[in-house]
Amino acid sequence: MPETIFSKIIRREIAADIVYEDEVCLAFNDVAPQAPVHILVIPREPFEDATQADATTLGHVMEVAARLGREKCPGGFRLVANTGADGGQSVPHLHIHVLGGRALGWPPG
Ligand code: AMP
Repeated sequence: MPETIFSKIIRREIAADIVYEDEVCLAFNDVAPQAPVHILVIPREPFEDATQADATTLGHVMEVAARLGREKCPGGFRLVANTGADGGQSVPHLHIHVLGGRALGWPPG
């Protein structure tokens, strides 16, 4: 797996505004928020393309993302996983965006 800025956040080599962490995942505020609530949830162990072997980790990451969305965005929220170049992914370490705090437009650009 490539070294990414998220690896450095996990190792505490660069600062992040961490809002939740456990043994499997880490959640922190996005440095360039696209909504009043914009949190990234990442697995500590990076993977680019989820396989069946990653189902438990991915399920946990999704559960944490949804829990943070419910806690921070009582009006509703959106979970997003940008994937690949056309999907707009800029960091090749799987991550779930938790977006909310305002009415979100659809479809995305
Ligand atoms: P994506 O474009 O889906 O790969 O999402 C990557 C996200 O990481 C973007 O929303 C960036 O704003 C965010 N990001 C990049 N560097 C940092 C950082 N050091 N701390 C917090 N968020 C970051």
